[in-house]
Amino acid sequence: QHVIISTVRDITERRRTQLELSRLLDEALQASRLKTEFVATMSHEIRTPMNGVAGMIDLLLHTDLTEDQREFATTVKESADSLMVIINDILDFSKLEAGRVDLEAVDFEVAHVIESVVALLNMSAKQKGLAISLKISPRIPARISGDPARLRQILLNLVANAVKFTERGSITIRASVESASDDALVLRFSVADTGLGISEEAQGRLFQPFVQADGSTTRRFGGTGLGLSISRRLVELMGGRISLQSTEGKGSTFTFTARFRNALAGEGIPLAPKQ
Ligand code: ADP
Repeated sequence: QHVIISTVRDITERRRTQLELSRLLDEALQASRLKTEFVATMSHEIRTPMNGVAGMIDLLLHTDLTEDQREFATTVKESADSLMVIINDILDFSKLEAGRVDLEAVDFEVAHVIESVVALLNMSAKQKGLAISLKISPRIPARISGDPARLRQILLNLVANAVKFTERGSITIRASVESASDDALVLRFSVADTGLGISEEAQGRLFQPFVQADGSTTRRFGGTGLGLSISRRLVELMGGRISLQSTEGKGSTFTFTARFRNALAGEGIPLAPKQ
């Protein structure tokens, strides 16, 4: 009888510990969700008044100003712009963390997306004497279905980094078909630079949020250290993977795959071009 009682007590005790543990886990998950929510809400709330500030400075810059006034207003505008970049990064990152990003599925042309990224960054590349070249495989279907804005965001991050961390040489953007079937088209993109390169030790950490290769790079170049974490999450959302190959002093190549659909697959050969 004694034995039975002590066994019953033992099980009750274990059950209590299990309940306690799962309660603690629930609380931790809830706290983490609240934190993500909070960051997303805050970033969103900050964006609205910041838009007002940036817009007003734009108007101010279009009025008659003395040289000094123009210089001060320009500095305010640059600060407002970089604050917006940081806030948008944090907002994007927290939304991705919370699983609140849905991908679109619209028809678009891969070449257009890549060209728009180059158009945006060509000026700053040229100022540093860097050429950006494109190698887009002709095997990529003319129109594909997926989320062009998010694809553009990933490429923009990678190419902007390539320009930022390269002093001389060139940047090459490649796009090719990794695999193609009736219902999925996996494309492979890469951005190669002849820049600073990244030490092996730092390579493994770069896709974690807020990590930068080293303190001196951070001070010299600024940035939030969120770009690559956002890119990795977006790539994974697109059913792909992102990786990096780099040699210090020689350059880096970031490669990612992403899943799309051939917009024309299954429709046979169209008789007339799509409007
Ligand atoms: P940010 O550029 O805002 O710091 P990222 O997440 O985009 O954030 O990049 C993280 C870090 O990875 C950068 O600070 C830099 O140290 C390193 N890095 C990224 N791309 C390159 C590159 N092409 N060449 C050298 N270092 C790079």
